[in-house]
Amino acid sequence: MNKPAIFALFGDPVAQSLSPLMHRSAFVKMRLTAPYTAYRVKDAAEVVRQIRESGIRGASITIPFKETVMALLDEVDANAVAIGAVNTIVNRDGRLVGYNTDGPGLARDLEDWIGIRGKTFVILGAGGAARAAVFTLIRGGGTAVVVNRTVERAAALAASFGCRWGLPAEIGRLEADCLINTTPLGMFPDTDRTPLKDQSLVRFPRVMDMIYNPVKTRLLMEAEAAGCAVRSGVGMFVHQGAEQIRLWTELEPPREWMRATVMERLGGRSGD
Ligand code: NAP
Repeated sequence: MNKPAIFALFGDPVAQSLSPLMHRSAFVKMRLTAPYTAYRVKDAAEVVRQIRESGIRGASITIPFKETVMALLDEVDANAVAIGAVNTIVNRDGRLVGYNTDGPGLARDLEDWIGIRGKTFVILGAGGAARAAVFTLIRGGGTAVVVNRTVERAAALAASFGCRWGLPAEIGRLEADCLINTTPLGMFPDTDRTPLKDQSLVRFPRVMDMIYNPVKTRLLMEAEAAGCAVRSGVGMFVHQGAEQIRLWTELEPPREWMRATVMERLGGRSGD
């Protein structure tokens, strides 16, 4: 007889994560009896040990283990290798396989909004989320320019994907169809922060913030005031979670239901 599937989130911290809420809500809607538990763990070895010992069928991986867990897995999907981070683990009869669903989550959200092919994007930041974004945009036929506080990291990211990079001081001269913020500036509780304080927002017809809490960051409020179309990180968050469920269960998740669950929780904090 098949054992009931159990799922988990591993990271440190995990208390702020909306993944447990979103995944539990999706499983209920899908009529799956599948617990999803958040574990705060001290290192990547503990992630792998817990998955094996508890027979966890699928896991979400968050900060700070997305990179360090990779070397401990039996296999890592080629896209996750290219991005350099794993946010999803599938346990296939004891064989642990790593994936990255941030890229597909962003791709799906952008396709719902402005598309990728032929479009130019300025990416603020050069961390894990920026790597997933640049990989996804280039693979989708878009163009990316990376701008980051630490210029060496911008140059290194750009070199690994063969795209351009720019200095933060140059942002007022860059033109693009869309600006995407991948820095954590403006995330709850530091909601008065923003990665762009000058007038350069008017240069971008569209501005997306990967932050989803608050739903409308200071960056998005100022972008809207400057006449830009704006997009929060909620859609990407929902799609990356939905792609995790697809990998774990091979079933299509209830994306609109998941979005409504997340928006209901964030409603009080959105600042709208
Ligand atoms: P990360 O690897 O720590 O990278 C953060 C980047 O932000 C770095 O390039 C860093 O610049 C820059 N940064 C940090 N503080 C800064 C400051 N005070 N001024 C200027 N730049 C600063 O983080 P990550 O994993 O990429 O995640 C970044 C954000 O994306 C988080 O807010 C996360 O919640 C969000 N995210 C959202 C989704 C979604 O589904 N919506 C998915 C993934 C991530 P330096 O290189 O100079 O340090």
